[in-house]
This record gives sequence, structure tokens and C-alpha cells, in this order.
Amino acid sequence: TPPPRRAHASSNASPPGVAMATTSRSGRHGSDDEESTPAMRRLRRLSLHLLQPAPEGGGSLGPAACAGKRRAGGLDADAAALTAYLRGRHRKMQARVYEFYVARPELQTPVELPMAAHRDLCFRQMAALVREAGVRPLSLMAADPAEYFAVMEAVGGVDISLAIKVGVQYSLWGGSVINLGTKKHKEKYFDKIDNLEYPGCFAMTELHHGSNVQALQTTATFDPVTDEFIIDTPNDGAIKWWIGNAALHGKFATVFARLILPLQGKGGEPADMGIHAFIVPIRDLETHAVLPGIEINDCGHKIGLNGVDNGALRFRSVRIPRDNLLNRFGDVARDGKYTSSLPTINRRFAATLGELVGGRVGLAYSSVGVLKVAVTIAVRYALLRQQFGPPKEPEISVLDYQSHQHKLMPMLASAYAFHFARAYLVDMYSEMKKTNDEDVTADVHVLSSGLKSYITSYTAKSISICRESCGGHGYAAVNRFGGLRNDHDIFQTFEGDNTVLLQQVAGDLLKQYQQKFKGGTLSVTWNYLRDSMGTYLSQPNPVTARWEGEDHLRDPKFQLDAFRYRTSRLLHSVAARLQKHMKTLGGFGAWNRCLNHLLTLAESHIESVILARFIEAVKSCPDEKTREVLKLVCDLYALERIWKDIGTYRNVDYVAPNKAKAIHKLVDYLSYQVRLVARELVDAFDVPDQIIRAPIGMQSEAYAQYTQGVGFYRQPT
Ligand SMILES: Cc1cc2nc3c(=O)[nH]c(=O)nc-3n(C[C@H](O)[C@H](O)[C@H](O)COP(=O)(O)OP(=O)(O)OC[C@H]3O[C@@H](n4cnc5c(N)ncnc54)[C@H](O)[C@@H]3O)c2cc1C
Repeated sequence: TPPPRRAHASSNASPPGVAMATTSRSGRHGSDDEESTPAMRRLRRLSLHLLQPAPEGGGSLGPAACAGKRRAGGLDADAAALTAYLRGRHRKMQARVYEFYVARPELQTPVELPMAAHRDLCFRQMAALVREAGVRPLSLMAADPAEYFAVMEAVGGVDISLAIKVGVQYSLWGGSVINLGTKKHKEKYFDKIDNLEYPGCFAMTELHHGSNVQALQTTATFDPVTDEFIIDTPNDGAIKWWIGNAALHGKFATVFARLILPLQGKGGEPADMGIHAFIVPIRDLETHAVLPGIEINDCGHKIGLNGVDNGALRFRSVRIPRDNLLNRFGDVARDGKYTSSLPTINRRFAATLGELVGGRVGLAYSSVGVLKVAVTIAVRYALLRQQFGPPKEPEISVLDYQSHQHKLMPMLASAYAFHFARAYLVDMYSEMKKTNDEDVTADVHVLSSGLKSYITSYTAKSISICRESCGGHGYAAVNRFGGLRNDHDIFQTFEGDNTVLLQQVAGDLLKQYQQKFKGGTLSVTWNYLRDSMGTYLSQPNPVTARWEGEDHLRDPKFQLDAFRYRTSRLLHSVAARLQKHMKTLGGFGAWNRCLNHLLTLAESHIESVILARFIEAVKSCPDEKTREVLKLVCDLYALERIWKDIGTYRNVDYVAPNKAKAIHKLVDYLSYQVRLVARELVDAFDVPDQIIRAPIGMQSEAYAQYTQGVGFYRQPT
């Protein structure tokens, strides 16, 4: 019996031009021609009859019929088993954080909140986490970075402003002190940063320079008479800008400034030793008054993240003791002599910035968390929402439209892919912290730059697609997309602008490429390039270029080879172009002439890394059923990316026209297959309802919660 129809204002009939989400039992989406055959029509009817009505929602406004759950090819997804596999080592800690905030309604962020109240709440949320829930982020970071990042993701679920506030205090202010300082700094500051007695800032960016850190102008001049440094803002372009925690709460700042040693340059001129970091007290510990010589102004209302108090600081001859130089990579003795284990300004600069990658790792990590929330809301709503249907038949769920599957299923697959990639990044970061191995450090630097850029750009675009895919209800603030989009958007810029970071990835690839030619070794992550010059750069095999069988296309070897082939080709060709342009344009001009090519190369490489991790994760999954589901998701991730860049593959005949067509068809088919297990796949993220919060994204009774939210009370049934 067909389930009862839900009354709605628009016509039940399919509007002209709206294709039915028809699918044959073989799973392939048919073309219009195919669907018009009697057999296809029968199959379509049959599949629609098999739809199960979903449980009723609340009262008269509940959903009439949901497209229900159908299985394809016997593939069955068990959300609990998937969760067990996805769940990180620190899920317990995350649960503790969630439970803490759930039990404290006064610490939850309401949908509407003025900036001042939001900043105040955000500080109280952080203070409660530390002082009442007993979470000590800096200790966690030192003992087990993976646990620290898990906490960051959890607090981001409460409010992204809170995650950034915590990140400023611990990754940036705390991280700079423990990573750039020495024993004396840890002894003096560690506990007080950890227990929030010393709220602080990370003051790197200036009005005129953000990305180009080497061009910062703030100075720290050594005064040998008083044994102090004098911090100065030489002009308004050097005002420290955007500094988190500065407008209201910070008592200290790690200030990045040029270290100037008087009389030590050529001919008795002052010597500029390059950028160093200094601890500068900015507010009185007792009264909280701004200290003399320092001027602080508020950067004001922002597009998002208004729980974070960003401020601008100007220094006029502010004196700090010599001990306040964070002296791990360079020190000044009492007599003004400079010493460093690193021989050049560039090496010291690289080492200093290299120690700050933790923030970048944290952003990549949290961005995956944001993507999971957005995708979960959009997929659950798409399963629930019904619009149109075949004449005289129940409406279908919008996730049964091919276009909707096309929007959301590759995104769901990407969330899985990024999940495994971020776990790898955190493992590498933890190893780097443990071993201080130079190769691992170099890998982590490039990997964190690449993954941070790639993931945050992808998530930013995806949030908008999720909003659109939820139609009008996606626009209600209570359904979260506006907040997520605005708060997350800046992830693309801070901790390194994405376009700038991708260039570091490209630069590293080129360095590896040159080293390869010189007979050098390659670092761990880039190992595949070893084979690339031989295998990947030979002419594509005209026989395999025509293979179009599903087994072949779903073979991880084919997929990974295709990704790596593209990267190797891009690398080879950009190296040649750079060499050619170098002669006439010089290094900088040649780089700029090839910039888009370089960015594509970096993205391509990062996609290869992500796919390799995903394939590895599928292989390592001990439960066969779960492995099959993950394999399906992984295939979609890989083939959709290949299809997106099919022009490149076609241009070099890596795939023949028939193969390109087969890939396209398979992407549609896999999107449909993933749709069949989409509910389980999002449930497996195991994000509690209190974190999802959007009424339309709840596990059940979505419409009921939504209608109650605006004031309609549930009718007794
Ligand atoms: C909300 C917020 C919080 C922040 N918190 C802090 C903080 O606590 N502490 C701190 O020190 N800083 C902070 N920042 C600053 C942030 O780190 C910088 O904004 C960021 O590093 C980018 O620098 P920029 O703004 O100078 O951008 P720019 O470098 O000026 O970039 C502008 C545009 O130019 C492009 N561009 C720049 N260089 C290149 C290039 N070489 N090739 C191609 N394109 C290029 C970029 O892609 C971008 O599109 C914060 C910023 C914001 C908005």
C-alpha cells in the first residue's frame, strides 16, 4: 500500500525537464532512451514499490513517506561497525568534552548572539573546559598531539569560535613558547598557560604583511646597557593586526620582530638578524590594564568567528628582559653576542616557522570535522525531503535525484578520504615531535601545508553546496550552514593562505625532482616519485588506455597510477617550463609565469597522497563487510576526481574516449550505490545530535524539531 501523501503546495507531477531518479536493478542510471523501454519502466515501478515508508515524524507536519532504504548488489552497511573502524583512539576524550557542554546549557552558543556576549561566552567556555572539566590542552599537546587535536575537533563542534580561541591560546601562544623557547621559558610559562592564568596571543601578522613573514617590520633592538630588548612599531604598516585574544583577554603576546643588534653590522651599523620571537607582556597581571607603550585597538565585527577578540597592537619603545627572547634557534648573550646552531638567517627562519606547523595540522583536522557536520545535515535532510514523483505515485526523496547524488555523494566520499588523510597527518606530526627527525619534519611541513589548503578549500566550497542542497530550509540560521560557512571560511587564509601554502608543496616537489636527477634520495611521502620518471613518463599504454571494464576501473592500482601519472607529468612539464622561462624572466618571473601550473601540480600531489591513505585504510579494515563499503566509497572518491580532470587524461591519451565515457557512467553508478548506504555512512561519523544541532539534520523527527523550534507545538497523535 502506498504510504499516505503529504499535502504540499506545489504540484505532485514531475515538472517538465525534471528527470526521474530512475535506476535499474543492475544499478546503472539509464539514459532517457533506455528508460523509455517497457522493461525499464517496469523495473522502475518495481523499485518504487519496494520503497519502505519511513517512520512518521511529529504530528500533522511529519513526513509522509521517505524513499526508505534500498540495497544494491547485496551491499549492506553497518554504521556501528563503520564507527568502530573510524573511531580514533581519543573518542573517549571527545565524548567527555561533548558531555561536559551538553550538561551545561549556559555554556552553549545560541543562534543569535551579539559580538560582545559571544566573546564573553567563548572565554567562559574555554575557562570551564580547563578549570571545571579539567582538560589541560597544553599538557595534552606535549604528551600526545593526537589527543589534543581530538579535543580541538570536539570544541569546534560546540562552537568554531571556541576552537579558534583554544587554538590561539594553546597551539599559537602556548605552542610558540614551548616550541621556540627553551627550558627556562617552559618552567616559567607552561603551567600558567595551561591553566589559563596567562591568556596570550600570537602576534605575527602586521597591517602590511601577513603571508610574507620575512618582510615584517616590527623591531626588537637589544640594549646592552639595561640588558633588555626594545620593541617598536616603526610605522603604521607594522601595526600587529588580526591578533587573536588581543582585543580583550590576552595578558601576553609572542611578538615576531626583527632582532636588531646595535653596532654589529658592517661599519658599525646595526645588524638585522632576521625574524625572532619575543614574549611581551601586554596587560597588567592584576588590573588587566594595557601596559605603558602599548596601544591596543579592536579589529571589530568580522564575517564570522565573532567569539574571538581580534585586536591590533602598536608598540612604542616597550622594554622587555633579554630572557624574553624565545631562544631555541638563536640567542643573544649578556655582552650582545649572537649565537645560533643554524648558520644563516634563512635556515633560522625556516626552523622557526617549521615549529609552528601544529596550528596548521589542527586546522586541517578541524576542517574535516566541519565537513562531516555539514554533510551529515545535508544527507539526512536529503533522505527526509521529498519533492515530486512519478504520476500517481509517492513523491521521492530528493536524494533519489541523480543531480542530488552528484552534489552530495562525492562530498561524502571526500569526508571519508580526508578522515584517513588527517589521521596520517597527525601520526606523522606525532612522530616528528617524538623523533625530531629532519626528513619527517620536512615531510610534515609540506604535508600539513598541502592538506590544510586542500581540505579547507574543499570544505569551504562544500558548505555552500550543502546549504543549496537543503533548499530554503538550508537558509534558516538554526540549520547551521550560515554559521559553519562564515566561521570556517577564514580557515582558507589563516595559518598560511592556501594559495601560498600550495606553492610550498610545489616548491618541495621540484626540489625532490632535482634531487632525483642528482641521484639523491626522496623523502617518505614522496616515494612514489622514484618510479614516476620511468614508468609514468613513458608514453601511455594504448592498450590499457582503452580498458573500460568495471574491474579495471575499480582496481586501486589503476586509480593510484592515474593520480600519480598526472602528478608526475605536471611535475615534469612545469620543471621544463620553469627552466625555459628562467632564462628570460629570472626565477621570480618564471615562477609567476607558471603559477597556475604549479598550483595544479600541488593539488594533484595532495590528491595522490589522500587516495593512497584511503586505499591503505580500506585494505587494513579487518571486517569484510565494512571493507566492502569503504571500498565503494573509495572508488567513488578516486573516479570522481579522475572524471573531474578527464580533459588532462584525454589530452595525453591516458584514457581513450570509450574509457572516459565508462568512467563517467561508473561515477554516476557509484554515486547511486553510495546513496543507498548514505544514512549509515553519515551515522558512522558518530557526531552527537547536540553537535549537529540543526533540526533538519537530526537522526529522527527532523520536521517535528524544526516546527517546534519556531513555535508550533506537537499535536497529540
Ligand atoms: C579572523 C582572523 C584571525 C587571525 N588571527 C591571527 C593571529 O592570531 N595572529 C596572527 O599573527 N595573524 C592572524 N591572522 C592573520 C592571518 O594569518 C593572515 O591574514 C594570513 O596569514 C594571510 O595574510 P594576509 O592577510 O596578509 O593576506 P595576503 O598575503 O595579503 O593575501 C591576499 C591575497 O593575495 C594572494 N597572495 C599573496 N601572496 C601570494 C603569492 N605569493 N602568490 C599568489 N597569491 C598570493 C593570497 O592568495 C590572497 O588571495 C588572522 C586573520 C584573521 C582574518
